[in-house]
Amino acid sequence: MINHGRKVLVVIPLSKSIQYMFGLSAPLAWLFAGRADRVRGVYGHELSEAHIREHDTFVIELCWFTALYEVGLLATHIKRINPRAKILIGGLYSQLAYRKILDSYPIDYFIRGDNELPIAMFLDGEDPRNIPNFVDREVEHPIEYRFSQDDFASLDFDLSWFPQYAAMIDRFPTTDNQQYRVPTIITSRGGCGVPHNGCSYCMGSRLKVMKQLHGRPVIVMDNDNLIRLIRKAERFGEFCIYMTSACNYDLTSIHCDARVFIEVEGKVSADRLRKIMYAFRRSELMIPVHSDGIMGGDIVTDCRDLVALSDDDHVVKFVAYADEAAALGHIPAASLVYVLDTFLPEWSHFDLYSKWDSALEVAKDRFAWILWQLDKHGIVPRNKTYLKSYLRTVMGAHPALLPGAVGIPSHGSNRSQPG
Ligand code: SF4
Repeated sequence: MINHGRKVLVVIPLSKSIQYMFGLSAPLAWLFAGRADRVRGVYGHELSEAHIREHDTFVIELCWFTALYEVGLLATHIKRINPRAKILIGGLYSQLAYRKILDSYPIDYFIRGDNELPIAMFLDGEDPRNIPNFVDREVEHPIEYRFSQDDFASLDFDLSWFPQYAAMIDRFPTTDNQQYRVPTIITSRGGCGVPHNGCSYCMGSRLKVMKQLHGRPVIVMDNDNLIRLIRKAERFGEFCIYMTSACNYDLTSIHCDARVFIEVEGKVSADRLRKIMYAFRRSELMIPVHSDGIMGGDIVTDCRDLVALSDDDHVVKFVAYADEAAALGHIPAASLVYVLDTFLPEWSHFDLYSKWDSALEVAKDRFAWILWQLDKHGIVPRNKTYLKSYLRTVMGAHPALLPGAVGIPSHGSNRSQPG
């Protein structure tokens, strides 16, 4: 039965990487387009009792496993204040663990696989029992809705439901906040579309798992749809493209009056890059060349041609490990972004976070670190954080919660063993 649509509060947990605390998963920039008047967003630390009493439907983002612990606290907090509330969980990591999440946390709904159509139906007030891909405590619908190439064309971007996002990203202009700022156009759906053998740490590389989760193989965005989405993102003035597919696009037919950050995950020639980077008023391209990535040595022989493409408004940079810099000595230092030792500490490996207990352990520490960050930056005074009442019982004397705690050190690397 259709009613007049649901009003939904979307809650964004903060337990992410050091540089991406206020970041959003890319789909949140398009999932509510056309229905944004029914949606309002808050970060977890902003969630108040008034918010909870004013809403009866909540969506909690769970894209990165590091938010797993915080999501449990948020759901429990919401249900304690408003027991009749319905909570939908969504995001890439939750695809992997939704059964355990529903068993462990007071979460009511989940959407398997692609969720553009199911979310639209949900916001339109459709009974979840009639929505494809929906899961609740009793029923698990089969995956009947699958994203297709044609669906790329109908995507649009809308962030009006969450104005705090731009404010917080501008307040904390870290590298990750810039490089993965939404809107982000990701050129594959349902896994990584770059031909490669490596990257076993990345969930995107687990194509069999991803196919099972989505009920379909990877879809790679075609050139026309990339241009369509660039045109739609242009009005934001700044956006990102994450090329998780073979880099064979040609944007020479357009000029986009925006600043764009592009991460190119696959091999690319200078000739091809030229057809992409000058389509934008300003562009900054990041190309990983670290040894355990997908390109490793291959690109190094060719990268002087790529560096030579840079001008005042179009910049090509390479991401490398500091201890591998010698092998890249022919690249100008200004074109290298060093990472101290590794991008991905052990705790962010698929083999770790695909196991519930180890994922939860890391997520607990990540959450403690977030509280320390909020306090350090004066974002939430210690005694007012919404989660405070849970902390003493759940985490006891965790060092990050003690008065004067200094938390973990921050440095230039994403290596960030918490605790
Ligand atoms: S290229 Fe990037 S997105 Fe693809 S599997 Fe490797 S790390 Fe993941």
